[in-house]
Order: sequence, then C-alpha cells, then structure tokens
Amino acid sequence: MNKILQFLKANRFNVTSWGVTALVVAALLGSTFWWTQVGAASPATRPIPTAQPGQNQTSVSLPAPVTNSMEFPGIGRALQLKTNIPERPRMDPVKYTVSRGDAMYSIAKQFNIKVDSIIYSNKGVIKYDNPQFLTPGLQLLIPPTDGMYYTWKDGDTFESVAAKSSVIAKVKPEDIINFPGNNIDLTDPQVKPGTIIFIPGGSRTLFDWSQLMPTISRVNNGSTGTSDFGGGGCATGGPVDNVFHSPTNSLAISGYDYSPSHLGIDLAATEGTPIYAAAAGIVTMAQGGDNYGYGNVIQIDHGNGFVTLYAHLSQINVSRCEIVGAGSLIGLAGATGHAEGAHLHFEIRIGGSNVNPHDYLQ
Ligand SMILES: [Zn+2]
Repeated sequence: MNKILQFLKANRFNVTSWGVTALVVAALLGSTFWWTQVGAASPATRPIPTAQPGQNQTSVSLPAPVTNSMEFPGIGRALQLKTNIPERPRMDPVKYTVSRGDAMYSIAKQFNIKVDSIIYSNKGVIKYDNPQFLTPGLQLLIPPTDGMYYTWKDGDTFESVAAKSSVIAKVKPEDIINFPGNNIDLTDPQVKPGTIIFIPGGSRTLFDWSQLMPTISRVNNGSTGTSDFGGGGCATGGPVDNVFHSPTNSLAISGYDYSPSHLGIDLAATEGTPIYAAAAGIVTMAQGGDNYGYGNVIQIDHGNGFVTLYAHLSQINVSRCEIVGAGSLIGLAGATGHAEGAHLHFEIRIGGSNVNPHDYLQ
C-alpha cells in the first residue's frame, strides 16, 4: 500500500494527466451515444408479404411533416396567387348563343373581330346576311380571327376554295393549308368533303340588299331588283345636286359603320332628331312599314345616278315626287324596322350600287 502511494507521489503529474484524459474520453463517448439515441428515427413498419392477393397489407405511415418551419430557416417564397397565362391566339371557333338585347357589333367587339367575319362564317344563319337581323337563341359560329368558316365540298381544291374566298381580299391556298386550327397534314394536304375549315382573311358574296330595297330613281324603270316596290315616274327634270352634307347634326357613328355586310352608316340620332336631305333632289320613295327591316324609309334621287336612303324613321315629312332642297327637313329619326335603338341608317347609292357615304359626305 505504501508502495502504491509512493508511486503516485513520484508520478503525480503523469497520473493526473492520464486521469484527465480518461475523463475527457469518457465524456466524448457518452455524449456521442446520447446524440445517436436522441436523433435515431423510430423504426418504420415494413409491409409483410401476404399469402393471398386479397389480404390486407400492413399500413405504412409516412413520417409526420415538419410543422414548425422556424426550426429550419431557409429562403422564403412569396405565394403567387395570380397565374400568368400568356395570351395565345385562339385557333378554334366559339359557339355563341344570341341573347336578348345582343347587337352584332358588340359581339364582334367582344371577340375582337369584324362584324363581316361573323356574317361570312354563318351563311344561311343570319337573315339576308344583315347584322341587324339577330334573334335571341340564334347559334353563331365565332371565328378565331378575321376570315370565314367554309364547309369543304366534293371536288374542292385549295386553289378553288382560295379563289372563291377572295371576294374582298386575296386569299392564297397556303393561307388555308398553314392555318394551325385546320390541322392539315403539311406533308399530304387533303380535306375530306364536309369538313369545316377556316379561311384566314376569307370573304364571300353577301346578300344583295338591293334585292329587297331597290334603288328608285326619278324616272321610271330606274329600279333594280325584283321587289314589289313602286316608284319612279316622278319627273325627268328636277334638281341635280351631287354635293352631300350630313343628314343629321353630327357624323358620329352609332352601331354599324360601312362594311360589306352593312352597306350604309348608322348615324347617332335619338328618337325625334330632325333628318335633313343630304342634297337637293326629288323624293322617289316615302314609305311606311317594316320594309325588310328598313322601317319607315325615304329615298331621294339627286341626279347622275346618285340616290340617298334614310331608314328607321319615326316620322316621314315628305311625299313621293316632292322636290326637296339641300338641308330640307324630311323626317324624324327613330327605330322602326330592325334597329337596335334609335339611329339613322343612311346609304348613298350610285347607279343602284352602294358606296361608302364617308367618301361623299362633306
Ligand atoms: Zn344600319
């Protein structure tokens, strides 16, 4: 025993350092063991193979999700509530059912296309191809862009279809083949009869308004078309005036402007607004009634083949064969016939053909 004490005394430094080393090692080992015990995941349940296919499997539960995100700080991501969908051009038609109070110009505006494109694409659907003949419940095919839907017929070729769709603007066969919505195989372009295809920029000959509302000139046999309207035979002389002024106080358009499907201009005019003769001439038509949608209508022959027409009037103040001066009061604006609200429908015809009034009004 004394020997041991003597040894300790003699090697005091060595014994102390060994002791401290042993303590440090023990502490390190202990803490490592403690950490692994705390951090160890609970053993997962494993599915046990079953003898029969129908037997229930042992359910395996997923580890619980981390709820307190503060324990795992990271880069936050702002919640984006709005999804940005890039605006792509529409390629397919939209079926639109006309509801009460719908006007063709507002439908066209809604789909960002021309009124004419809807008229072209709905052959036989809209009466007289006239945008003012819309009835609730009517099913319209709205094209994706300006142009025309066309039902492929037996014997049609891309060349022949392009040629007959070029009434207003030239259409090339490749415009039809390349339109993505037509889904035409570019390696072997073919279309089966009965298939509806879209012709970008396409147009067709529209119903000729003069078939219903013939132009009446001051002399007899001046009428065109085949309607039962009388007229003509007023005089061979009379004033000639080919300088045209606005038949209303303003030239503001309300509704349809001049286009292939609307052969006149709709001038803003409330019910009862005075309507004036655009130039001097002879009244060749002053007729009440529906008149195929024109309502109460006046025509004035200004000589040299020029005839002006005033429609949807609430009142007619002149009679047939009456001579009027430029600016004479001839009637009052209204909404008779087919009109979406009161306005003046005004046409200028030369030799029985409609022209754009904007090109002639002073
Ligand atoms: Zn009109």
